[in-house]
Amino acid sequence: MSENDGKKTLGVRGGPRSGQVKQSFSHGRTKSVVVETKRKRVVAPKPAAGKAEGGGRSTPVGGDPKKRPAGISDAELDRRMRALAAARARESEEAAAREAEEKARAEERERRRAEIEAKEREEREREEALKAKAEEDARRLREDNEAKARAAEPAADPAEAEARAARTQKPAPARAPERERDKPAKPAKVGGEKRRSGKLTVNQALSGGEGGRQRSMASMKRQQERARKKAMGQQQDREKVTRNVNLPEAIMVSELANRMSEKVSDIVKALMQNGIMATQTQTIDADTAELIIEEFGHRVVRVSDADVEQVIDQVADSPSDLKPRAPIITVMGHVDHGKTSLLDAIRHARVVQGEAGGITQHIGAYQVEQGDATLTFLDTPGHAAFTSMRARGAQVTDIVVLVVAADDAVMPQTIEAINHAKAAKVPMIVAINKIDRPDANPDKVRTDLLQHEVIVEKMSGDVQDVEVSAVNGQGLDQLLEAIALQAELLELKANPERSAQGAVIEAQLDVGRGPVATVLVQNGTLRRGDIFVVGEQWGKVRAMENDQGERVNEAGPSVPVEVLGLNGTPEAGDVLNVVETEAQAREIAEYRANAARDKRAAAGAATTLEQLMANAKANENVAELPILVKADVQGSAEAITQAMEKIGNDEVRVRVLHSGVGAITETDVGLAEASGAPIMGFNVRANASARNTANQKGVEIRYYSVIYDLVDDVKKAASGLLSAEVRENFIGYAQIKEVFRVTKVGNVAGCLVTEGIARRSAGVRLLRDNVVIHEGTLKTLKRFKDEVAEVQSGQECGMAFENYDDVRPGDVIEIFEREEVERNLT
Ligand code: GDP
Repeated sequence: MSENDGKKTLGVRGGPRSGQVKQSFSHGRTKSVVVETKRKRVVAPKPAAGKAEGGGRSTPVGGDPKKRPAGISDAELDRRMRALAAARARESEEAAAREAEEKARAEERERRRAEIEAKEREEREREEALKAKAEEDARRLREDNEAKARAAEPAADPAEAEARAARTQKPAPARAPERERDKPAKPAKVGGEKRRSGKLTVNQALSGGEGGRQRSMASMKRQQERARKKAMGQQQDREKVTRNVNLPEAIMVSELANRMSEKVSDIVKALMQNGIMATQTQTIDADTAELIIEEFGHRVVRVSDADVEQVIDQVADSPSDLKPRAPIITVMGHVDHGKTSLLDAIRHARVVQGEAGGITQHIGAYQVEQGDATLTFLDTPGHAAFTSMRARGAQVTDIVVLVVAADDAVMPQTIEAINHAKAAKVPMIVAINKIDRPDANPDKVRTDLLQHEVIVEKMSGDVQDVEVSAVNGQGLDQLLEAIALQAELLELKANPERSAQGAVIEAQLDVGRGPVATVLVQNGTLRRGDIFVVGEQWGKVRAMENDQGERVNEAGPSVPVEVLGLNGTPEAGDVLNVVETEAQAREIAEYRANAARDKRAAAGAATTLEQLMANAKANENVAELPILVKADVQGSAEAITQAMEKIGNDEVRVRVLHSGVGAITETDVGLAEASGAPIMGFNVRANASARNTANQKGVEIRYYSVIYDLVDDVKKAASGLLSAEVRENFIGYAQIKEVFRVTKVGNVAGCLVTEGIARRSAGVRLLRDNVVIHEGTLKTLKRFKDEVAEVQSGQECGMAFENYDDVRPGDVIEIFEREEVERNLT
């Protein structure tokens, strides 16, 4: 580059064959330059140059690269070599006479001078470029005008034409030198002719001589580009400082920039390059932020919750402080198999009878004594509680009791419960209930369970099974013994001496007492007067009641207590932590409330199929893609599950977390959320509450009516090839109120459009109990007596299906349209 001109960069100095040239500059200054003797390409070689070359050794051109100032390219070097060769050829005699120390001094002088000159030249070049541009513009304008003028007056005689031709050619010779002057500016075209005429300095040789020299626009651009690159290079050097960036769940762009010590605009730009349009005040999720942080070369430190949470006691318990604790048991099973009855039976049989006739208060959990052991039962049967807790990160349950009625068999919810327990990796004990019933067939239950990979002890497996009757109390002891045994194997321990941590099992707003929460202490001891934070709420323990309605002052590990003194109602599954001061509690609660809001706001919280697959691809650890399948009949559910299991390669495997028959329920959504899986509905729909929950939690529900489509979608997604998708938009729902028989038309359904609109041209499905029983088109859509194109929500209408007659009051008609949506899986 120009600032290196004439520097001591021209070869192996002091080498046995090196030559020196003395150069003269304006104002009588001179300097000597060392010339590398080995050159491959010499422009216009002179005898002297030839001689020098002949004597050259095989020292590489440019000498030791380490001695080269940074930024000198080989081409640059070559160019200088050639320039010097010419100069040396002319002045070799003079140069040879120079002394070594004079050379060193001269070099130093030259370097300083070259720097100044380089600056001056740059200035000059800029001015000249502008001037040249102005000239060029003026010239063009002139030419244009002339051309126009010529066009206006047609040639009268050859003489005039000739004169005009001469005139038009006139600018050409004027331009020609201009172009020639351009040439020396281009390093590769340093010509020999100019150098031969008169004295030549290295700078002149390189820059194409004094005065009148112009650089092309391209050269200017190149220079600018170089300057820019250099600037950027420097910036990158500065950024080599690698920072640890604390990254919460969601972060504002400006805050991210702050924590990375980068410019906000750079972050916004980087986001844009990643296809995310975000302003500095917008919040992005942790995954996106992580990408950006890594792109800038910093280290990501994920903080599960922000710094404010660090006041929560995180110290691990030393093994010597750990004391055995009671196991926590959840009862699950199909509806009506006797979960509630069993929980009641256990409670009545075992709970120490209170003074008031054994009336126990329902607080969501209770404890029973079994020999030396105490067992804590969660008094909230069903899967919703279980999954909602798991979804919130609170794994409360230690043991699952799976209730199966002996007079029934393994039912959809039984399977669901099995899958829940498996997903949470919680051991199971099978309670075969209703053994008192005459038609009880416990062995059928046992064999049924085999199909679901639950092998009970009687079938030489390792899952304990106990025959019980919640009605007459038969087998209850054995069941409790089995639980105690299982608990012993688990070796459950906690440290009662630390500040308490617990999970909310139930919470409600009590009219008289304010917000109350049943908390199951998991570690430490909760005491009256303790200040705590629970989810997005905080409080101070005003009073505590145990499962028998007694006031207590403290509650140790595995003890359920009802806590009073909250400032708001937490949610089941929220974790309670005792902190030191009210200020801390309030700060954490506020932080969590904000974070939760931000997280909801930050796009991409959803568990969609695309995201899941994309994540799986990005993260090598996620080799498994969990999905939930709900289908209209067992056959389809099995077919889909089998097909899913076949999908996959070395990298990704599809795992059906749960497959079942019937409508998609809130429990399914809960499980899907807890495991980060999408739900595939085959000819079934989600019920209203499940739909709402799914929307809220960002769980994706996909509906299919062709198995092939479903399998294909998962397959394509697994290989990252999701193409254009035909997406169905549900435009309306109608409820069938009455069915009329109309001769020649068939059955006409008298409907009320409950949601959206009914459109004659749209596709329709008939749903009975959220299961699709027919799909087709409408034969007629009538409003009163008239055939209409559309019926709005809230209005009544008559509908009849094309080629289908089995419509019944209570059925729901789903109206949908199809559109093709381009997938953008990244
Ligand atoms: P849940 O829906 O699983 O909670 O089932 P419930 O506890 O509500 O029980 C459903 C029905 O089964 C009730 O009518 C109970 O009386 C009955 N039931 C529960 N356990 C037994 C049992 O061991 N023997 C008999 N004969 N009936 C039972």
